[in-house]
Amino acid sequence: QAKNDGRNRHSFFERRMDEAIRMRKLVADDLRDAITGDGLELHYQPIFAADRDEVVALEALVRWRHPEKGLIPPDRFVAMAEQSGLILPLGDWVLRRACNDARRWPGLRVAVNVSPIQFRQRDYVETVGRILEETGFDPTRLELELTEGVVVEDADAAEAAMMRLRAKGVNLALDDFGTGYSSLIYLRRFAFDKIKIDRSFLESMEATGESAILVHSIVHLGRALGLTVTAEGVETREQQRFLQALGCHQLQGYLLARPMPASDIDALLSARRHAGAA
Ligand code: C2E
Ligand code: MG
Ligand code: MG
Ligand code: MG
Repeated sequence: QAKNDGRNRHSFFERRMDEAIRMRKLVADDLRDAITGDGLELHYQPIFAADRDEVVALEALVRWRHPEKGLIPPDRFVAMAEQSGLILPLGDWVLRRACNDARRWPGLRVAVNVSPIQFRQRDYVETVGRILEETGFDPTRLELELTEGVVVEDADAAEAAMMRLRAKGVNLALDDFGTGYSSLIYLRRFAFDKIKIDRSFLESMEATGESAILVHSIVHLGRALGLTVTAEGVETREQQRFLQALGCHQLQGYLLARPMPASDIDALLSARRHAGAA
């Protein structure tokens, strides 16, 4: 009896495992089709100068337009894309689309998120160079958003790749700043132009005085190192005023604008131009 139970349990877990693997493969196949077909969309979130009412950049954020499940946010498929290797064609698609779209928004930078898996490819810098050439996009208007994950594995290789990107004129931002474990060391060693303070700091700022102190310190540290400091996840006027008072350079968040399709960015920019001219 006991033996039988054990066997049943074993096969039960095996079946569950098979199912999980099959599911993952199904989802990966779906995503592969989305990348090669036209199942992916890029939305853009405006980033504002903190001290004046001006859009200075747009962050490209990928979405998956699934035929049955609707619009799927990146948190639900980027990890799977990284595990399956699909992040490489996905990342190339994102960069190419962002460069193509952003040509019609002169004067604005476009920020593109880069997975550590992409960045670790030996030919990553060449890939970026090729897409810039193909699309004719001005490299000084491109900002790549990297995370600490990019530099932890092979710091020497990462440093070399970053220098080569900088040499092309590409800007580099350290995304989700403060969530890793040794960000301060990275700031000194690596050639970042910008840090983006992680949204979690702002979320907890009202609740605990400690978060406000941390945000304060990060802004001052960034400024002292000559970096541009952007805060993400700005949702309230209080947060906006606090960050402005600290001298944070750029603000991004639902209070100011949400991510939106490229056509809505066109409308927003033209409405703002008209309002400015009036
Ligand atoms: P991220 O790069 O830190 O992007 C900021 C995220 O915060 C976006 O979520 C944005 O919509 C959200 N956000 C901005 N302002 C606010 C706010 O005021 N309140 C709240 N609650 N959220 C705000 P999204 O678009 O869901 O993207 C999530 C993450 O997925 C990104 O975080 C990034 O790590 C990743 N991701 C997005 N697009 C790409 C991509 O093309 N490639 C890669 N590798 N990762 C991507
Ligand atoms: Mg980002
Ligand atoms: Mg972030
Ligand atoms: Mg993030």
